[in-house]
Amino acid sequence: MSYEKIKMDRQKRIALIAHDNMKKELIDWVKKNKEILSKHFLFGTGTTARIIAETVNLPVRGFKSGPMGGDQQIGARIVEGKIDMMIFFWDPLEAQPHDPDVKALLRIAVLYDIPVANNMSTADFLLTSVLMGEEYERHVVDYQDFIKKRMEHFLK
Ligand code: PGA
Repeated sequence: MSYEKIKMDRQKRIALIAHDNMKKELIDWVKKNKEILSKHFLFGTGTTARIIAETVNLPVRGFKSGPMGGDQQIGARIVEGKIDMMIFFWDPLEAQPHDPDVKALLRIAVLYDIPVANNMSTADFLLTSVLMGEEYERHVVDYQDFIKKRMEHFLK
Protein backbone atom coordinates (compact mmCIF):
# COMPACT_ATOMS: atom_id res chain seq x y z
CA MET A 1 0.00 0.00 0.00
CA SER A 2 1.32 3.47 -0.74
CA TYR A 3 0.95 6.43 1.58
CA GLU A 4 0.72 10.16 1.19
CA LYS A 5 2.55 12.25 3.78
CA ILE A 6 0.68 15.10 5.43
CA LYS A 7 2.61 17.65 7.41
CA MET A 8 1.58 18.90 10.84
CA ASP A 9 3.06 22.19 12.02
CA ARG A 10 4.63 22.78 15.42
CA GLN A 11 1.43 24.47 16.48
CA LYS A 12 -1.23 21.77 16.42
CA ARG A 13 -4.92 22.18 15.64
CA ILE A 14 -6.54 20.18 18.43
CA ALA A 15 -10.20 19.09 18.62
CA LEU A 16 -11.65 18.73 22.13
CA ILE A 17 -14.87 16.74 22.65
CA ALA A 18 -16.49 15.28 25.75
CA HIS A 19 -19.81 13.56 26.28
CA ASP A 20 -21.91 15.01 29.11
CA ASN A 21 -20.77 12.56 31.82
CA MET A 22 -17.13 13.20 30.83
CA LYS A 23 -17.21 16.99 30.53
CA LYS A 24 -15.94 17.66 34.05
CA GLU A 25 -13.02 15.30 33.46
CA LEU A 26 -12.06 17.11 30.23
CA ILE A 27 -12.43 20.58 31.77
CA ASP A 28 -10.18 19.56 34.70
CA TRP A 29 -7.64 18.14 32.24
CA VAL A 30 -7.70 21.33 30.13
CA LYS A 31 -7.27 23.47 33.30
CA LYS A 32 -4.30 21.36 34.35
CA ASN A 33 -2.71 21.72 30.89
CA LYS A 34 -3.77 25.27 30.11
CA GLU A 35 -0.27 26.58 29.54
CA ILE A 36 0.73 24.01 26.92
CA LEU A 37 -2.71 24.06 25.27
CA SER A 38 -2.52 27.85 24.92
CA LYS A 39 0.35 27.34 22.46
CA HIS A 40 -1.91 25.45 20.05
CA PHE A 41 -5.21 26.09 18.23
CA LEU A 42 -8.30 24.63 19.90
CA PHE A 43 -11.56 23.46 18.36
CA GLY A 44 -14.51 21.64 19.87
CA THR A 45 -18.10 20.51 19.60
CA GLY A 46 -20.59 23.22 20.62
CA THR A 47 -21.16 22.68 24.33
CA THR A 48 -17.65 21.41 25.10
CA ALA A 49 -16.05 24.37 23.28
CA ARG A 50 -18.24 26.91 25.04
CA ILE A 51 -17.67 25.49 28.53
CA ILE A 52 -13.90 25.36 28.02
CA ALA A 53 -13.79 28.89 26.62
CA GLU A 54 -15.79 30.21 29.59
CA THR A 55 -14.30 28.23 32.46
CA VAL A 56 -10.67 27.98 31.36
CA ASN A 57 -10.55 31.23 29.41
CA LEU A 58 -8.87 29.81 26.31
CA PRO A 59 -10.02 30.58 22.75
CA VAL A 60 -11.86 27.54 21.34
CA ARG A 61 -13.55 27.56 17.96
CA GLY A 62 -16.89 25.84 18.44
CA PHE A 63 -18.85 23.83 15.92
CA LYS A 64 -22.41 22.46 16.29
CA SER A 65 -23.22 20.43 19.36
CA GLY A 66 -22.30 16.73 18.96
CA PRO A 67 -25.87 15.40 18.63
CA MET A 68 -26.58 18.17 16.08
CA GLY A 69 -23.73 17.15 13.75
CA GLY A 70 -20.68 18.63 15.49
CA ASP A 71 -18.80 15.32 15.39
CA GLN A 72 -19.38 15.17 11.65
CA GLN A 73 -18.10 18.73 11.21
CA ILE A 74 -14.90 17.80 13.04
CA GLY A 75 -14.60 14.61 10.97
CA ALA A 76 -14.92 16.66 7.78
CA ARG A 77 -12.12 18.97 8.93
CA ILE A 78 -9.87 15.99 9.65
CA VAL A 79 -10.53 14.81 6.08
CA GLU A 80 -9.66 18.28 4.77
CA GLY A 81 -6.41 18.33 6.76
CA LYS A 82 -7.59 21.17 9.01
CA ILE A 83 -7.45 19.30 12.35
CA ASP A 84 -4.27 17.52 13.49
CA MET A 85 -5.18 15.87 16.75
CA MET A 86 -8.21 14.92 18.86
CA ILE A 87 -8.91 14.60 22.56
CA PHE A 88 -12.29 12.88 22.72
CA PHE A 89 -13.57 11.69 26.10
CA TRP A 90 -16.54 9.60 24.97
CA ASP A 91 -18.75 7.97 27.56
CA PRO A 92 -17.96 4.25 27.98
CA LEU A 93 -21.02 3.66 30.20
CA GLU A 94 -23.90 5.32 28.35
CA ALA A 95 -25.23 5.10 24.79
CA GLN A 96 -25.58 8.38 22.88
CA PRO A 97 -28.22 9.37 20.32
CA HIS A 98 -25.41 10.12 17.87
CA ASP A 99 -23.38 6.93 18.39
CA PRO A 100 -23.14 6.35 14.59
CA ASP A 101 -21.48 9.80 14.25
CA VAL A 102 -19.04 8.97 17.06
CA LYS A 103 -18.08 5.75 15.32
CA ALA A 104 -17.62 7.60 12.01
CA LEU A 105 -15.42 10.22 13.65
CA LEU A 106 -13.20 7.62 15.31
CA ARG A 107 -12.83 5.78 11.99
CA ILE A 108 -11.85 8.94 10.13
CA ALA A 109 -9.30 9.80 12.83
CA VAL A 110 -7.63 6.39 12.39
CA LEU A 111 -7.77 6.58 8.58
CA TYR A 112 -6.15 10.03 8.53
CA ASP A 113 -3.54 8.95 11.08
CA ILE A 114 -4.14 11.71 13.59
CA PRO A 115 -3.19 11.22 17.26
CA VAL A 116 -6.31 10.53 19.33
CA ALA A 117 -6.77 10.30 23.10
CA ASN A 118 -9.98 8.79 24.45
CA ASN A 119 -9.09 8.91 28.14
CA MET A 120 -7.08 11.02 30.52
CA SER A 121 -3.91 8.94 30.70
CA THR A 122 -3.59 8.81 26.91
CA ALA A 123 -4.21 12.57 26.77
CA ASP A 124 -1.39 13.07 29.32
CA PHE A 125 1.02 10.90 27.32
CA LEU A 126 0.07 12.68 24.09
CA LEU A 127 0.46 16.20 25.40
CA THR A 128 3.85 15.49 26.99
CA SER A 129 5.23 13.94 23.79
CA VAL A 130 8.28 15.75 22.38
CA LEU A 131 6.44 15.69 19.04
CA MET A 132 3.94 18.25 20.35
CA GLY A 133 6.49 20.98 19.74
CA GLU A 134 7.85 19.65 16.46
CA GLU A 135 6.72 19.32 12.88
CA TYR A 136 5.51 15.82 12.02
CA GLU A 137 4.50 13.93 8.90
CA ARG A 138 1.57 11.59 9.24
CA HIS A 139 0.82 8.83 6.77
CA VAL A 140 -2.48 8.66 4.95
CA VAL A 141 -3.34 5.84 2.57
CA ASP A 142 -2.94 7.01 -1.02
CA TYR A 143 -6.33 6.12 -2.40
CA GLN A 144 -5.50 7.07 -5.99
CA ASP A 145 -4.23 3.52 -6.64
CA PHE A 146 -7.50 2.01 -5.39
CA ILE A 147 -9.57 4.40 -7.46
CA LYS A 148 -7.51 3.60 -10.57
CA LYS A 149 -7.94 -0.16 -10.10
CA ARG A 150 -11.67 0.17 -9.45
CA MET A 151 -12.08 2.37 -12.52
CA GLU A 152 -10.26 -0.25 -14.60
CA HIS A 153 -12.53 -2.95 -13.16
CA PHE A 154 -15.77 -1.09 -13.84
CA LEU A 155 -14.78 0.17 -17.28
CA LYS A 156 -13.61 -3.12 -18.75
P1 PGA B 1 -21.21 18.79 22.90
O1 PGA B 1 -21.10 17.54 21.99
O2 PGA B 1 -19.85 19.31 23.14
O3 PGA B 1 -22.06 19.77 22.16
O4 PGA B 1 -21.88 18.33 24.19
C1 PGA B 1 -20.26 16.48 22.38
C2 PGA B 1 -20.82 15.19 21.88
O5 PGA B 1 -21.83 14.75 22.41
O6 PGA B 1 -20.27 14.61 20.93
